[in-house]
Amino acid sequence: MSARIIDGAGLAARLRAGYRERAAVLAAQGRRPGLAVIIVGDNPASRVYVRNKVRACEEAGFHSRLIELPAATTEADLLGRLAELNADPAIHGILAQLPLPAHLDSARVIEAIAPEKDVDGFHVASAGALMTGLPGFAPCTPAGVMAMLAAEGIDAAGRHAVVVGRSNIVGKPMALLLLQAGATVTICHSRTPDLAAMTRQADILVAAVGRAKLVTADMVKPSACVIDVGMNRDAAGRLCGDVDFEPVREVAGWITPVPGGVGPMTIAMLLANTLKAAERT
Ligand code: NDP
Repeated sequence: MSARIIDGAGLAARLRAGYRERAAVLAAQGRRPGLAVIIVGDNPASRVYVRNKVRACEEAGFHSRLIELPAATTEADLLGRLAELNADPAIHGILAQLPLPAHLDSARVIEAIAPEKDVDGFHVASAGALMTGLPGFAPCTPAGVMAMLAAEGIDAAGRHAVVVGRSNIVGKPMALLLLQAGATVTICHSRTPDLAAMTRQADILVAAVGRAKLVTADMVKPSACVIDVGMNRDAAGRLCGDVDFEPVREVAGWITPVPGGVGPMTIAMLLANTLKAAERT
Protein backbone atom coordinates (compact mmCIF):
# COMPACT_ATOMS: atom_id res chain seq x y z
CA MET A 1 0.00 0.00 0.00
CA SER A 2 1.18 3.48 -0.82
CA ALA A 3 2.32 5.73 2.04
CA ARG A 4 0.08 8.38 3.53
CA ILE A 5 1.31 11.75 2.30
CA ILE A 6 1.70 14.26 5.10
CA ASP A 7 0.27 17.52 3.82
CA GLY A 8 2.57 20.11 5.38
CA ALA A 9 1.05 22.93 3.36
CA GLY A 10 -2.46 22.13 4.61
CA LEU A 11 -1.35 21.69 8.21
CA ALA A 12 0.63 24.94 8.08
CA ALA A 13 -2.42 26.80 6.74
CA ARG A 14 -4.59 25.45 9.58
CA LEU A 15 -1.98 26.39 12.18
CA ARG A 16 -1.57 29.86 10.71
CA ALA A 17 -5.32 30.47 10.93
CA GLY A 18 -5.08 29.67 14.66
CA TYR A 19 -2.08 31.99 15.08
CA ARG A 20 -4.08 34.75 13.42
CA GLU A 21 -6.74 34.42 16.10
CA ARG A 22 -4.17 34.47 18.91
CA ALA A 23 -2.45 37.49 17.30
CA ALA A 24 -5.78 39.33 17.18
CA VAL A 25 -6.26 38.75 20.92
CA LEU A 26 -2.79 40.15 21.63
CA ALA A 27 -3.32 43.07 19.25
CA ALA A 28 -6.51 43.97 21.14
CA GLN A 29 -4.35 44.18 24.28
CA GLY A 30 -1.84 46.44 22.49
CA ARG A 31 0.70 43.65 22.04
CA ARG A 32 0.48 42.82 18.31
CA PRO A 33 3.24 40.26 17.64
CA GLY A 34 6.09 41.87 15.70
CA LEU A 35 8.84 40.20 13.65
CA ALA A 36 11.88 41.99 12.23
CA VAL A 37 13.71 40.32 9.38
CA ILE A 38 17.14 41.57 8.40
CA ILE A 39 18.61 40.65 5.04
CA VAL A 40 22.08 41.73 3.99
CA GLY A 41 22.99 41.68 0.29
CA ASP A 42 21.04 40.41 -2.67
CA ASN A 43 21.14 36.60 -2.58
CA PRO A 44 18.09 35.77 -4.76
CA ALA A 45 17.05 32.66 -2.80
CA SER A 46 17.30 34.57 0.50
CA ARG A 47 15.13 37.32 -0.94
CA VAL A 48 12.41 34.81 -1.81
CA TYR A 49 12.55 33.25 1.69
CA VAL A 50 12.41 36.66 3.35
CA ARG A 51 9.50 37.79 1.21
CA ASN A 52 7.58 34.62 2.12
CA LYS A 53 8.23 35.15 5.82
CA VAL A 54 7.09 38.77 5.71
CA ARG A 55 3.97 37.83 3.73
CA ALA A 56 3.13 35.07 6.22
CA CYS A 57 3.43 37.59 9.06
CA GLU A 58 1.10 40.02 7.35
CA GLU A 59 -1.47 37.32 6.62
CA ALA A 60 -1.46 36.33 10.28
CA GLY A 61 -2.00 39.92 11.37
CA PHE A 62 1.50 40.31 12.81
CA HIS A 63 3.50 43.49 12.55
CA SER A 64 6.52 42.87 10.32
CA ARG A 65 9.55 44.96 9.60
CA LEU A 66 11.84 44.09 6.70
CA ILE A 67 15.29 45.64 6.93
CA GLU A 68 17.24 45.34 3.69
CA LEU A 69 20.89 46.27 3.98
CA PRO A 70 23.51 46.50 1.23
CA ALA A 71 26.08 43.72 0.81
CA ALA A 72 28.83 46.09 1.99
CA THR A 73 27.19 46.64 5.42
CA THR A 74 29.81 46.50 8.17
CA GLU A 75 29.49 44.23 11.17
CA ALA A 76 29.34 47.28 13.45
CA ASP A 77 26.38 48.64 11.46
CA LEU A 78 24.56 45.35 11.59
CA LEU A 79 25.19 44.89 15.32
CA GLY A 80 23.92 48.44 15.84
CA ARG A 81 20.68 47.61 14.03
CA LEU A 82 20.25 44.49 16.12
CA ALA A 83 20.78 46.46 19.33
CA GLU A 84 18.00 48.86 18.27
CA LEU A 85 15.65 45.97 17.52
CA ASN A 86 16.53 44.26 20.82
CA ALA A 87 15.36 47.42 22.60
CA ASP A 88 12.23 47.95 20.48
CA PRO A 89 9.05 46.91 22.34
CA ALA A 90 7.07 46.55 19.07
CA ILE A 91 9.46 43.79 17.94
CA HIS A 92 9.15 40.39 19.64
CA GLY A 93 11.14 38.31 17.19
CA ILE A 94 14.29 39.07 15.19
CA LEU A 95 15.90 37.03 12.51
CA ALA A 96 18.99 37.63 10.44
CA GLN A 97 18.56 35.76 7.17
CA LEU A 98 21.45 33.37 6.48
CA PRO A 99 23.78 33.12 4.72
CA LEU A 100 25.33 36.50 5.48
CA PRO A 101 28.03 37.93 3.18
CA ALA A 102 31.42 36.36 3.88
CA HIS A 103 32.89 39.43 5.65
CA LEU A 104 30.26 39.15 8.41
CA ASP A 105 30.69 36.64 11.24
CA SER A 106 27.34 34.80 11.41
CA ALA A 107 27.99 33.45 14.90
CA ARG A 108 28.70 36.95 16.29
CA VAL A 109 25.63 38.33 14.54
CA ILE A 110 23.33 35.63 15.89
CA GLU A 111 24.74 36.03 19.40
CA ALA A 112 23.86 39.74 19.18
CA ILE A 113 20.14 38.92 19.01
CA ALA A 114 18.51 38.98 22.45
CA PRO A 115 17.75 35.32 23.34
CA GLU A 116 14.14 36.23 24.20
CA LYS A 117 13.73 37.50 20.61
CA ASP A 118 15.66 34.65 18.94
CA VAL A 119 12.68 33.19 17.08
CA ASP A 120 14.91 31.28 14.64
CA GLY A 121 16.30 29.38 17.64
CA PHE A 122 19.92 29.68 16.46
CA HIS A 123 21.40 31.56 19.47
CA VAL A 124 23.63 29.46 21.76
CA ALA A 125 21.19 30.22 24.59
CA SER A 126 18.39 28.65 22.53
CA ALA A 127 20.60 25.69 21.62
CA GLY A 128 21.53 25.27 25.29
CA ALA A 129 17.89 25.42 26.37
CA LEU A 130 17.00 22.76 23.83
CA MET A 131 19.92 20.60 24.95
CA THR A 132 18.94 20.80 28.61
CA GLY A 133 15.15 20.75 28.17
CA LEU A 134 14.61 24.30 29.42
CA PRO A 135 12.00 26.56 27.81
CA GLY A 136 13.28 28.37 24.73
CA PHE A 137 12.86 28.59 20.99
CA ALA A 138 13.49 25.43 18.99
CA PRO A 139 14.74 25.99 15.44
CA CYS A 140 11.76 26.25 13.11
CA THR A 141 12.42 23.39 10.66
CA PRO A 142 12.82 20.61 13.24
CA ALA A 143 9.98 22.11 15.30
CA GLY A 144 7.86 21.89 12.16
CA VAL A 145 8.73 18.22 11.76
CA MET A 146 7.65 17.53 15.36
CA ALA A 147 4.36 19.36 14.71
CA MET A 148 3.78 17.18 11.64
CA LEU A 149 4.39 13.99 13.65
CA ALA A 150 1.99 15.21 16.33
CA ALA A 151 -0.68 16.07 13.77
CA GLU A 152 -0.38 12.57 12.27
CA GLY A 153 -0.62 10.96 15.71
CA ILE A 154 2.89 9.51 15.38
CA ASP A 155 4.37 9.12 18.85
CA ALA A 156 8.17 9.06 18.72
CA ALA A 157 8.43 7.47 22.20
CA GLY A 158 9.97 4.03 22.02
CA ARG A 159 10.68 4.36 18.28
CA HIS A 160 14.03 4.35 16.55
CA ALA A 161 14.52 7.69 14.81
CA VAL A 162 17.36 8.11 12.33
CA VAL A 163 18.34 11.64 11.35
CA VAL A 164 20.58 12.03 8.32
CA GLY A 165 22.43 15.35 8.63
CA ARG A 166 24.06 17.02 11.62
CA SER A 167 23.84 20.75 10.93
CA ASN A 168 23.20 23.14 13.81
CA ILE A 169 19.99 24.39 12.22
CA VAL A 170 18.36 21.10 11.22
CA GLY A 171 20.06 17.78 11.99
CA LYS A 172 21.28 18.31 15.57
CA PRO A 173 18.17 20.10 16.92
CA MET A 174 16.00 17.52 15.11
CA ALA A 175 17.81 14.73 16.93
CA LEU A 176 17.42 16.52 20.29
CA LEU A 177 13.68 17.08 19.79
CA LEU A 178 13.16 13.42 18.88
CA LEU A 179 15.24 12.39 21.89
CA GLN A 180 13.14 14.64 24.11
CA ALA A 181 10.03 12.96 22.67
CA GLY A 182 11.33 9.58 23.82
CA ALA A 183 12.83 8.19 20.60
CA THR A 184 16.09 6.28 20.44
CA VAL A 185 18.04 8.47 18.05
CA THR A 186 20.82 7.77 15.59
CA ILE A 187 22.47 10.67 13.79
CA CYS A 188 24.12 9.95 10.43
CA HIS A 189 26.34 12.21 8.34
CA SER A 190 28.85 12.19 5.51
CA ARG A 191 31.29 10.01 7.50
CA THR A 192 28.72 7.32 8.36
CA PRO A 193 30.12 4.13 6.76
CA ASP A 194 26.94 2.23 5.78
CA LEU A 195 24.13 4.73 5.62
CA ALA A 196 21.55 2.29 4.25
CA ALA A 197 22.15 -0.14 7.14
CA MET A 198 21.30 2.70 9.53
CA THR A 199 18.31 4.12 7.68
CA ARG A 200 16.75 0.66 7.29
CA GLN A 201 16.42 0.51 11.08
CA ALA A 202 14.42 3.71 11.26
CA ASP A 203 10.78 3.83 12.34
CA ILE A 204 11.09 7.57 11.78
CA LEU A 205 13.60 8.66 9.13
CA VAL A 206 14.47 12.33 8.70
CA ALA A 207 16.59 13.27 5.69
CA ALA A 208 18.26 16.67 6.05
CA VAL A 209 21.21 16.49 3.70
CA GLY A 210 20.72 18.54 0.54
CA ARG A 211 21.25 15.76 -2.02
CA ALA A 212 18.50 14.90 -4.46
CA LYS A 213 17.25 11.29 -4.22
CA LEU A 214 19.86 10.24 -1.65
CA VAL A 215 17.27 8.12 0.17
CA THR A 216 16.13 5.29 -2.10
CA ALA A 217 13.41 2.68 -1.51
CA ASP A 218 15.88 -0.04 -0.46
CA MET A 219 17.06 2.24 2.41
CA VAL A 220 13.62 2.46 4.01
CA LYS A 221 11.99 0.07 6.49
CA PRO A 222 8.47 -0.94 5.40
CA SER A 223 5.82 1.31 7.00
CA ALA A 224 8.37 3.83 8.32
CA CYS A 225 7.59 7.52 8.56
CA VAL A 226 9.88 9.34 6.11
CA ILE A 227 10.36 13.07 6.56
CA ASP A 228 12.12 14.88 3.74
CA VAL A 229 13.70 18.18 4.80
CA GLY A 230 15.93 18.53 1.72
CA MET A 231 15.41 21.28 -0.82
CA ASN A 232 17.27 20.61 -4.03
CA ARG A 233 16.86 21.15 -7.75
CA ASP A 234 16.71 18.12 -10.03
CA ALA A 235 18.31 17.98 -13.50
CA ALA A 236 15.25 19.73 -14.95
CA GLY A 237 15.50 22.52 -12.36
CA ARG A 238 12.44 21.37 -10.39
CA LEU A 239 12.39 21.59 -6.61
CA CYS A 240 12.90 18.16 -5.03
CA GLY A 241 13.87 16.69 -1.68
CA ASP A 242 16.49 14.20 -0.48
CA VAL A 243 14.09 11.27 -0.87
CA ASP A 244 13.36 9.42 -4.10
CA PHE A 245 9.67 10.14 -3.60
CA GLU A 246 7.72 7.78 -5.88
CA PRO A 247 9.56 4.50 -5.10
CA VAL A 248 9.91 5.33 -1.38
CA ARG A 249 6.21 6.10 -1.23
CA GLU A 250 5.51 2.44 -2.09
CA VAL A 251 7.51 1.23 0.96
CA ALA A 252 6.93 3.87 3.65
CA GLY A 253 3.88 4.28 5.88
CA TRP A 254 4.04 8.08 5.80
CA ILE A 255 6.01 10.44 3.60
CA THR A 256 6.34 14.20 3.22
CA PRO A 257 6.33 15.72 -0.27
CA VAL A 258 8.70 18.40 -1.58
CA PRO A 259 7.39 20.98 -2.14
CA GLY A 260 4.43 21.17 0.24
CA GLY A 261 5.89 19.21 3.16
CA VAL A 262 8.42 20.53 5.67
CA GLY A 263 8.97 23.91 3.93
CA PRO A 264 5.59 25.49 4.79
CA MET A 265 5.86 24.13 8.34
CA THR A 266 9.15 26.02 8.83
CA ILE A 267 7.39 29.33 8.21
CA ALA A 268 4.45 28.33 10.41
CA MET A 269 6.87 27.61 13.29
CA LEU A 270 8.52 31.00 12.82
CA LEU A 271 5.10 32.56 13.41
CA ALA A 272 4.52 30.24 16.37
CA ASN A 273 7.82 31.29 17.96
CA THR A 274 7.08 34.99 17.36
CA LEU A 275 3.65 34.58 18.91
CA LYS A 276 5.19 32.79 21.89
CA ALA A 277 7.69 35.65 22.30
CA ALA A 278 4.88 38.22 22.20
CA GLU A 279 2.71 36.24 24.63
CA ARG A 280 5.58 36.20 27.13
CA THR A 281 5.83 40.01 27.21
P1 NDP B 1 24.11 21.36 5.70
O1 NDP B 1 24.81 21.36 4.38
O2 NDP B 1 24.51 22.31 6.75
O3 NDP B 1 24.20 19.89 6.32
C1 NDP B 1 24.07 18.74 5.53
C2 NDP B 1 24.35 17.52 6.35
O4 NDP B 1 24.24 16.37 5.51
C3 NDP B 1 25.75 17.49 6.95
O5 NDP B 1 25.67 17.09 8.29
C4 NDP B 1 26.48 16.47 6.10
O6 NDP B 1 27.44 15.71 6.81
C5 NDP B 1 25.36 15.54 5.71
N1 NDP B 1 25.67 14.81 4.48
C6 NDP B 1 26.17 15.32 3.32
N2 NDP B 1 26.31 14.33 2.41
C7 NDP B 1 25.91 13.19 3.01
C8 NDP B 1 25.84 11.84 2.58
N3 NDP B 1 26.20 11.47 1.36
N4 NDP B 1 25.40 10.92 3.46
C9 NDP B 1 25.03 11.28 4.70
N5 NDP B 1 25.06 12.56 5.17
C10 NDP B 1 25.51 13.49 4.32
O7 NDP B 1 22.55 21.51 5.33
P2 NDP B 1 21.31 21.96 6.24
O8 NDP B 1 21.19 21.10 7.44
O9 NDP B 1 21.31 23.43 6.39
O10 NDP B 1 20.12 21.62 5.23
C11 NDP B 1 19.90 20.30 4.79
C12 NDP B 1 18.87 20.33 3.67
O11 NDP B 1 17.65 20.83 4.18
C13 NDP B 1 19.21 21.25 2.49
O12 NDP B 1 18.69 20.69 1.31
C14 NDP B 1 18.48 22.52 2.81
O13 NDP B 1 18.16 23.27 1.66
C15 NDP B 1 17.23 21.96 3.44
N6 NDP B 1 16.54 22.87 4.36
C16 NDP B 1 15.20 22.92 4.24
C17 NDP B 1 14.48 23.73 5.07
C18 NDP B 1 13.01 23.74 4.92
O14 NDP B 1 12.37 24.63 5.44
N7 NDP B 1 12.42 22.75 4.23
C19 NDP B 1 15.13 24.58 6.08
C20 NDP B 1 16.55 24.36 6.20
C21 NDP B 1 17.22 23.54 5.34
P3 NDP B 1 28.79 16.38 7.43
O15 NDP B 1 28.34 17.13 8.64
O16 NDP B 1 29.63 15.19 7.75
O17 NDP B 1 29.34 17.26 6.36
